[in-house]
Amino acid sequence: MNLFSILKSLTLKELRGGLAVTGRYLFRKKFTVQYPEERAPMSPRFRGLHAQRRYPNGEERCIACKLCEVVCPAMAITIESAQREDGTRRTTRYDIDLTKCIFCGFCEEACPVDAIVETRIYEYHGECRDDLLMTKEKLLAVGDKYEAQIAADRTADAPYR
Ligand code: SF4
Ligand code: SF4
Repeated sequence: MNLFSILKSLTLKELRGGLAVTGRYLFRKKFTVQYPEERAPMSPRFRGLHAQRRYPNGEERCIACKLCEVVCPAMAITIESAQREDGTRRTTRYDIDLTKCIFCGFCEEACPVDAIVETRIYEYHGECRDDLLMTKEKLLAVGDKYEAQIAADRTADAPYR
């Protein structure tokens, strides 16, 4: 320890510097919010929990083209598909493993029919790995529940877009 360091310790220079910073911010406008009573503004482009959407007639949008599966850099999406009696193709399995997902939004961008989307939802948790495996049923349930907000966020005049 040199003489300068000893003098710095004796005069409490660093402590006084820290208190000065605290004092400067004490009366400024606060950056923090009292979550969950208060919320910070959020862009509709926020990439949160995934959802699968349906058309207004209840038909699922996904046509099992697998573009999202191919484009996913985390290989988090697993799709299996089959042809239905009416000749259309639909998924028989559509899983997103949220423990792998990096929320890049590529799946949403790749989808030609706006079927897979990322919502604003960030308040979810899992207590085991299975809870974070979003199956087709879970994804459709999220889509059904939040369709109004999902649709509104995808209009040209959505705020912050
Ligand atoms: S957000 Fe990105 S990482 Fe997550 S499932 Fe979609 S493409 Fe894959
Ligand atoms: S979610 Fe979209 S991109 Fe993925 S398989 Fe279905 S239609 Fe294709």
